Amino acid sequence: MTTRTPLMAGNWKMNLNHLEAIAQVQKLAFAMNDKDYAAVEVAVLAPFTDLRSVQTVIEGDKLKIKFGAQDLSPHDSGAYTGDISGAMLAKLNCAYVTVGHSERREYHGETDELCNAKVKAAFKHGLTPILCIGEGLDVRKAGNQVAYTLAQLDGGLKDVPAEQAETIVIAYEPVWAIGTGEVATPEDAQEVCGAIRGRLAELYSQELADKVRIQYGGSVKSGNVAAIMAQPDVDGALVGGAALDPEEFVKIVRFRD
Ligand code: PEP
Repeated sequence: MTTRTPLMAGNWKMNLNHLEAIAQVQKLAFAMNDKDYAAVEVAVLAPFTDLRSVQTVIEGDKLKIKFGAQDLSPHDSGAYTGDISGAMLAKLNCAYVTVGHSERREYHGETDELCNAKVKAAFKHGLTPILCIGEGLDVRKAGNQVAYTLAQLDGGLKDVPAEQAETIVIAYEPVWAIGTGEVATPEDAQEVCGAIRGRLAELYSQELADKVRIQYGGSVKSGNVAAIMAQPDVDGALVGGAALDPEEFVKIVRFRD
């Protein structure tokens, strides 16, 4: 049986300037201990303007916290004003980059096709994409959450070779649960995360599917994380609001306690 190290990632969204980001990482590092790092992988996903500062603190103090960005361009370089390339993120030693967060899909019209190009760009530059997928409320009410989310998975992974796909992280984030305080039940999370693993097995192989980490995201807090993490196909959490409070985020990291 494959053991998957849980990935607890804090998505700061458009919060914290670079000075606040430094303080945030320091507080997190102060609160965490070797037992935490042995049990889970911890990452912060920071705004672009914070990344250099976050890198400097983490590498300067040899912290075991991983870091990454919240988006990237599908292009390597060129006339794309305002965009940031995977090469630029790689130069800052980013480990992760989220792709297709529901807020990008909603406010920037990101399609599965664009997400697919971004996933490929991330891999091209040695970054691990965290591909975010999940249904809105209408789809959930109609009972189509599995089919809808799997279609996003298929789109995001189109023509991605197995040697890359086996390292991807998938974040199942039901849109109706993001930032709303409305958390999916552990059974809801398992239903879709299990289906995602099943589809990975169909697209690639069971062996590959067993290696991929699938996170749940949507109003995760210290009070609900343990029940969600107890589900067999949930391998971590993508945490938004609660990740802005270092003490709360560390409690989430310590979901087993
Ligand atoms: C997120 O930003 O991906 C997220 C899940 O946010 P929240 O935890 O605030 O719902």
